[in-house]
Amino acid sequence: MADTETHTDIREAVRKLCARFPGEYWRKLDRERAYPTEFVKALTDKGWLSVLIPEQYGGAGLGISAACAVLEEIHRSGCNGAACHAQMYTMGTVLRHGSEAQKQRYLPKIASGELRLQAFGVTEPTSGTDTTRIQTFAQRQGDKYVVNGSKIWISRAEHSDLMVLLCRTSLRDDSAKPSDGMSVLLVDMRDAKGRGLTIKPVRTMLNHATTELFFDNLEVPAENLIGKEGQGFRYIIDGMNAERILIAAECIGDGKFFVDRASAYAKDREVFGRPIGENQGVQFPIARAHVGVTAASLMVDQAAKLFEADEPCGSEANMAKLVASEASWFAADVCIQTHGGFGFAEEYDIERKFREARLYQVAPISTNLILSHVATHVLGLPKSF
Ligand SMILES: Cc1cc2nc3c(=O)[nH]c(=O)nc-3n(C[C@H](O)[C@H](O)[C@H](O)COP(=O)(O)OP(=O)(O)OC[C@H]3O[C@@H](n4cnc5c(N)ncnc54)[C@H](O)[C@@H]3O)c2cc1C
Repeated sequence: MADTETHTDIREAVRKLCARFPGEYWRKLDRERAYPTEFVKALTDKGWLSVLIPEQYGGAGLGISAACAVLEEIHRSGCNGAACHAQMYTMGTVLRHGSEAQKQRYLPKIASGELRLQAFGVTEPTSGTDTTRIQTFAQRQGDKYVVNGSKIWISRAEHSDLMVLLCRTSLRDDSAKPSDGMSVLLVDMRDAKGRGLTIKPVRTMLNHATTELFFDNLEVPAENLIGKEGQGFRYIIDGMNAERILIAAECIGDGKFFVDRASAYAKDREVFGRPIGENQGVQFPIARAHVGVTAASLMVDQAAKLFEADEPCGSEANMAKLVASEASWFAADVCIQTHGGFGFAEEYDIERKFREARLYQVAPISTNLILSHVATHVLGLPKSF
């Protein structure tokens, strides 16, 4: 098959870096639910987390397809980019909507890794996907905002210096549209911890450093407002296409990991006096997984191209994320089945990647919500909510 992979130099360099972080490294962290500090530092030192930051602010100024190549290779190598992928794109809110002073102040330090902006606070326990119903409220008092409320599933909050926080600055009922009246604050976590911000880790089926946040009269300087008060929902939506495309690239990497591992094992493992891969009952699911991952990869490439050309790409980004997350999950299931009992043994890394791959049909947006977007925005079907 023709090799259509782009950014081959980036891919090779990332693969080389990832080879220093083999399965044992991730297994140990997984058992302890610990953060991959050394891995994140290695990526930061090589500049892989700042590829999307423009050169004038100290990054590489590359397009999203380069960032996709980085994340895909991380995942294909059996590593997990979820510990730091948000350092790549959360800064987009500051870049697109922040003032020049905010960009000068934060972006160069984010590019160098001196500052970590990889916490993104949107989801709340009672609002779920219906973001306009968030209740965390930031009350303006002179030159500061006073924040009260809570968030759930805020990943990497303990490993972040800054957080992009979406909160209400007007009540939903007092706003012209439900999506009005929300604002984005850049919260300095270093100042906030213990002074109105409490972070509580949430243990999950995967090692994801996710947390619950509680705000109790947290004071945030008014100068940390990003863009205009009341327009925050739009700013968050603006960042979602990049997130969807990058997560989809991680799914492609996961899918390739599973297909590689399943193929290798099926060639090697002998039962009934021959490699199990000689049986079509074993080969066909692996071949189907490969077809699915390849097809999804083309959709991710298309969404990335549109994004890089500054064309509308909301539907393409969503659809790419949907098919990529389903393709990787199918491949994960096939990989377990191909390995038989050994698929469940920790030392093969399949069960860990299986757990990690499952997340992406739920976060950062669940499959049903993407289908709803396609049904109503692309196909013109009536809205159900
Ligand atoms: C490990 C992890 C990390 C996360 N990290 C972050 C983070 O860093 N920052 C952040 O803000 N959030 C984060 N999230 C939250 C994540 O984005 C949400 O969990 C996800 O968007 C789904 O929202 P929910 O859990 O509130 O589900 P709900 O909105 O409660 O939905 C539950 C289920 O019902 C379905 N559903 C709901 N409404 C409808 C409808 N009208 N029609 C059809 N189906 C419907 C959904 O598709 C879903 O399957 C994370 C979540 C996890 C699990």
